[in-house]
Amino acid sequence: MIKIDFLVVGAGFAGSIVAERLASAGRQVLIIDKRPHVAGNAYDEHDAHGVLVHRYGPHIFHTNAQRIVDYLSQFTEWRPYEHRVLAQVEGQLLPIPINRDTVNRLYGLNLDEAGVQAFFERVREPREPVRSSEDVVLNTVGRDLYEKFFKHYTRKQWGLDASELSAGVAARIPVRTNQDDRYFTDTFQVMPLHGYTRMFEHMLDHPNIRTELGVDFAAIRNKVKAGHIVYTGPIDAYYDYCYGKLPYRSLHFEHEHLPALAQYQPVGTVNYPNDHAYTRITEFKHLTGQAHAGTSIVREYPQAEGDPYYPIPRPENEALYKRYQALALQEPHVTFVGRLAQYRYYNMDQVAAAALKAADNILGVAQEVA
Ligand code: FAD
Ligand code: UDP
Repeated sequence: MIKIDFLVVGAGFAGSIVAERLASAGRQVLIIDKRPHVAGNAYDEHDAHGVLVHRYGPHIFHTNAQRIVDYLSQFTEWRPYEHRVLAQVEGQLLPIPINRDTVNRLYGLNLDEAGVQAFFERVREPREPVRSSEDVVLNTVGRDLYEKFFKHYTRKQWGLDASELSAGVAARIPVRTNQDDRYFTDTFQVMPLHGYTRMFEHMLDHPNIRTELGVDFAAIRNKVKAGHIVYTGPIDAYYDYCYGKLPYRSLHFEHEHLPALAQYQPVGTVNYPNDHAYTRITEFKHLTGQAHAGTSIVREYPQAEGDPYYPIPRPENEALYKRYQALALQEPHVTFVGRLAQYRYYNMDQVAAAALKAADNILGVAQEVA
């Protein structure tokens, strides 16, 4: 039996941040990940052709929280990057989020901002209450734009109709009457200058942290006696699926390098709501700013089976999660944090915030302040 103070399961944003905080407070930490690398789904690497790519799909860091940027800035420098996305609809590449140019180009109009506002007022299908993702979109831009930009993308991505998904999913995508074509409007939109993996390596490079990769918690849980466990994997797996499986959506990533092409597409990501089995193509050089004679892209194919990438936000899944959460709340010596453990459709900055809070709670900072 191995005895340790803190065992952290998962070396993504959630686990690595908690590990760093505990280690910096003088605690001894063992962090494991079943994958052969750190950084979780944010993992990036140079492909065989020397292009920096994100193995698990495009990761763009954006936040309004200065303190999250300050915290992460201890481990990386940044490169400013504003993500732009175009959607291929009826043979055109149109801005998404839907904005004034999207409407004008799709319908051959020349509306100003007030004109687009009036247009949305005319076509929207008011919904009260707004419960589902379908409600969100119909309520703001009406049926035609819903069907052209959201309906089929959502079915592909989730294997569900937008009417079966909570409002929060589609509400991630705003609707604009101006010409702002940025995907995000957060104050900070940056990429780690030397990549996410390098940032995580710096974070975990601490004398109080031991990192063991390729180690599954299931294989060691009876061999390790930890004073406290920080668990960032899927919560249903921790409890051996005792209430049944929590649905997570998976993806298959098809990476491709195009050796003789400097640029494949005009922006970082092109969405394909209506064509193809994949949802989107991302070209990494836009995100990283890397200069290279060739270029590398990734296509995302949603699927039911495989690594759990997305919790699926809908009321019955939330109810099942609550049952697991009730078990978790009875365990003072285990902390569940992160996108999989909290079953939350979190962005990286939200996971970072949750991890910093979890570390404070473990270290008793909250109690001391109170
Ligand atoms: P993860 O990164 O999933 O880390 C959990 C780790 O736990 C994994 O490495 C896993 O191997 C390990 N683990 C699980 N079970 C076990 C076990 N039994 N034993 C040992 N180890 C285990 N967010 C943004 O802010 N911007 C974006 O642009 C963005 N793009 C995304 C694109 C895609 C395709 C996906 C899937 C997500 C994206 N996200 C984005 C979300 C982002 O990936 C997450 O918010 C963040 O990575 C979650 O961190 P985490 O530590 O909670 O989970
Ligand atoms: N969405 C859509 N069409 C788009 C972009 C997004 O229907 O062109 C919907 C879809 O349901 C998607 C959700 O909005 O899953 C959230 O999109 P986002 O780009 O935030 O997804 P992520 O980057 O997390 O995969």
